[in-house]
Amino acid sequence: MGDYEPERVLSAPASMCKDPLNISNETSGVLYHQLRQKPLNIVGGKGSYLISDEGLEILDATCGAAVSCLGHSDKRVHEAIMDQLQKIPYCYSLYFTNSAAENLSRILVESTGGKMSRVFISSSGTEAVEASVKMAMQYFRELPTPQPQRVKFISRKQSYHGNTLGSLAVGHHVARRAIYESILTKNVTHVSQCYPYRDMKAGESVEAYIGRLAMELEDEFQRLGPDTVCAFVAETMAGATLGCQPALPGYLKAMKEVCERHGALFILDEVMSGMGRTGTLHAWEQEGVVPDLQTIAKGLGAGYAPIAGLLVNKRVVDTLTRGTGAFAHSQTYQGHPVSCAAAYKVQQIIQEDNLLPNVRVMGEYLGSLLREKLGGHPHVGDIRGRGLFWAMEFVRNRETKESYPPSQKIAWTLHTTGLKPQHAISLMPGNGGADGVNGDHICLAPPYNTTKEEIEMIVERTVNVIQEVLG
Ligand SMILES: *Cc1c(COP(=O)(O)O)cnc(C)c1O
Repeated sequence: MGDYEPERVLSAPASMCKDPLNISNETSGVLYHQLRQKPLNIVGGKGSYLISDEGLEILDATCGAAVSCLGHSDKRVHEAIMDQLQKIPYCYSLYFTNSAAENLSRILVESTGGKMSRVFISSSGTEAVEASVKMAMQYFRELPTPQPQRVKFISRKQSYHGNTLGSLAVGHHVARRAIYESILTKNVTHVSQCYPYRDMKAGESVEAYIGRLAMELEDEFQRLGPDTVCAFVAETMAGATLGCQPALPGYLKAMKEVCERHGALFILDEVMSGMGRTGTLHAWEQEGVVPDLQTIAKGLGAGYAPIAGLLVNKRVVDTLTRGTGAFAHSQTYQGHPVSCAAAYKVQQIIQEDNLLPNVRVMGEYLGSLLREKLGGHPHVGDIRGRGLFWAMEFVRNRETKESYPPSQKIAWTLHTTGLKPQHAISLMPGNGGADGVNGDHICLAPPYNTTKEEIEMIVERTVNVIQEVLG
């Protein structure tokens, strides 16, 4: 792990503690996620810990939403940000380039072995997904023989691809879509996830199950008209909405084959699963497929600055280069120098500290400990994951796999219970995984530089929280 060992506080520096905001929910100007409740106020962070204004040290077992993959206090990233601020904080990407964006894009392209040849840098995963949809549309319009009839997208149920109207339509997060259904584009349809716990039939082989999923996608192409489909979009490893579901071996290959047969693009959303979270820098490296377009975000800048990217395959770049010669999409903060400098340093640290092997080894350890301590729990239906990305799906009844009623808010209760001082752990709750509405899970996503001792503490605290809520 190089010579760098993140400091791990067990007592927060006095200057950080006891710095309570003299603000209540009524006097705050912030539109909190839960409007009726002021969340904990975080005043500091060190290693894997968040420090509240009451001095509570919360073990951040999820890096927020699988974001802070180096922990919260890496001085090297702080310095890179300060250096860039002193050089140039911002320049408009329509007129100029900058060395931070150049450096970051170059190492990203190199990290794919040149399979992806250019990068469009935006500020959020949502924007990267929107850009991928627009890029796919433009690609078909600028082919030597244009295919403007390709206007439809196929993605998967219980998937999440972002929260603006375009990306929300691509995904299938039932709760987040609910009140907007009537204004979401009808050009997206959804096929089943690869979700063996609930969808693989008793006695069915992996090959037969994958064959069935590929046939479902083929049927959807046929139903829509194969030459009207622009792209198929999938998370390489399903993230927060379904709950850390890795693809079965051969599944993504089978899905890509269907796309190729019909000339549609294959888009992988690695906003959550990419940049090392699953043990390889790109999650697709473990699947034997290369996407045409790939989105990345959460681990890219590790939370030190908002940043995301759309990696574009050579074939698509070449088509646009010979076509209009410009991507018909841009945003003010695209390629932001400070964000790029932060992400460039984060990516250098992941390489220099050799963190990916640690993700794989600690990930195996986390998975095996969860299975050992919770595999027999009457309300833990499934434990699944890969790398440092694991979920537990909770059920009322293990035999029937019956979920808890959504009104019981099991996952959210696990999250809030974890934040009590006696547990002091942040867990990532999810619901609707089973069928869009029912199903509760929590995800764990520790930082890439986590240690054996920390994994043991995460599992111990998680078990205690589950016991308090579910017995
Ligand atoms: C989080 C997420 C997004 C959206 O990213 P934001 O940065 O929240 O806009 C898109 N796709 C996947 C798979 C995600 O997990």
